[in-house]
Amino acid sequence: MSRKNDPDGIEQCSHTGKCGGCSHTGIPYEEQLNAKQERIDKLFRSSGCRVERILGADSPFHYRNKVHSVFSRDKKGNIIRGMYAQDSHDVIGISHCLLEDKTADAIIEEIRKIASKYKMRIYDEDSRTGFLRHVLVRVAQYHGEKRYMVVIVTSQVDFEGKNNFVKLLKKAFPAIDTIIQNINNKRTSMILGERNIVISGKGYIIDDSLGFGFRISPSAFFQINPQQTRKLYNAAMELASPSPDDNILDAYCGTGTIGTFMSRKAGHVTGVELNPDAVKDALSNAKRNRIENISFICSDATEYLKELAIKAGETDHEKTGHDRNDRKKELLIPDILCMDPPRSGATPEFINAAAELGIKRIVYISCNPDTLIRDIDLFKKKGYKVERAVPVDMFPHTDHIEMAVKLSK
Ligand code: SAH
Repeated sequence: MSRKNDPDGIEQCSHTGKCGGCSHTGIPYEEQLNAKQERIDKLFRSSGCRVERILGADSPFHYRNKVHSVFSRDKKGNIIRGMYAQDSHDVIGISHCLLEDKTADAIIEEIRKIASKYKMRIYDEDSRTGFLRHVLVRVAQYHGEKRYMVVIVTSQVDFEGKNNFVKLLKKAFPAIDTIIQNINNKRTSMILGERNIVISGKGYIIDDSLGFGFRISPSAFFQINPQQTRKLYNAAMELASPSPDDNILDAYCGTGTIGTFMSRKAGHVTGVELNPDAVKDALSNAKRNRIENISFICSDATEYLKELAIKAGETDHEKTGHDRNDRKKELLIPDILCMDPPRSGATPEFINAAAELGIKRIVYISCNPDTLIRDIDLFKKKGYKVERAVPVDMFPHTDHIEMAVKLSK
């Protein structure tokens, strides 16, 4: 079998092993999918549920819609862009990435050229001097076209030659909708600092690839592979199969994308999310899409569900008949729980509260099969059964696995 599976004709990235971004680019995509399938089948063997065929990507290269480069100088003093070597702060110059959006890559290369030509001062992490630290480019699909956000991360506000920089960059790439200067003067491995100064456009881009307009601001979470996100959300929707009477809880909701996606078919959706900026974006997205049956709560998901279980218990104890039903409606007790926790998974308290509330159907979306299986075991102890398990290859050429699993009581 041919091992050439990249449209650029590159068999394997020359930086493999150094940057840690991808590890399987030399292996034909079909083989990668089979290997992932085998890993998941093995992991799920004890769950009593057969895993469905992994949903692969139609085009597994250049899918990343969020591209970052750190700026530095090489030993000869040339300006380079790249990434930190694994577990270190040494910068490896990277000129070509097989996973990243090509135009985003080209935009960063153009910035490198402008920085060289106009002798921009590059930030030095040891001496903490210099100006330009990172560039982050985010991509959205809007009305069938790709639109770009450029975030220039600098150590200070004073941006010499700013207008010229904006003019040159926008001329080279008319698809850039907005340019933001982000100030980060801390000694930190975080890319973005707290302050954003919009230097061109609106300060955000809008993605409508899922049939809704979602606002993406510099730090907002947004799934990084748009093609596969659609497959994942469609799978989640099928597993949840909401009806107009159902209350859905979208736990760990980020900017509310999954809940918004399901809101058309549900009675009400409640999104719960810890990050206040994500909640702000979620509220603005609901308004933009004129969705009336969705609300968001900024809270720890476990705390929210625990409290809800207590309130439901009190209602059962104190009220009867219509009063009980009315109060329960008011509480928006979920019929369906859709949960998409970070890699660490959910907490035992969260799972106990979900079971106590008697939630009939749960769709668990996970980017970490190990914590997923751990949590499934806890759900099983509470009387739940795994009905379906659908893997989606969100991150081709890497080891990462994403899954949507349906549990029911
Ligand atoms: N469902 C969203 C985002 C999933 S990422 C989407 O598909 O776009 C996981 C989200 O969980 C992040 O937005 C993170 O901020 C949030 N999160 C992390 N810990 C949390 C907690 N304890 N309670 C609520 N949300 C949490």
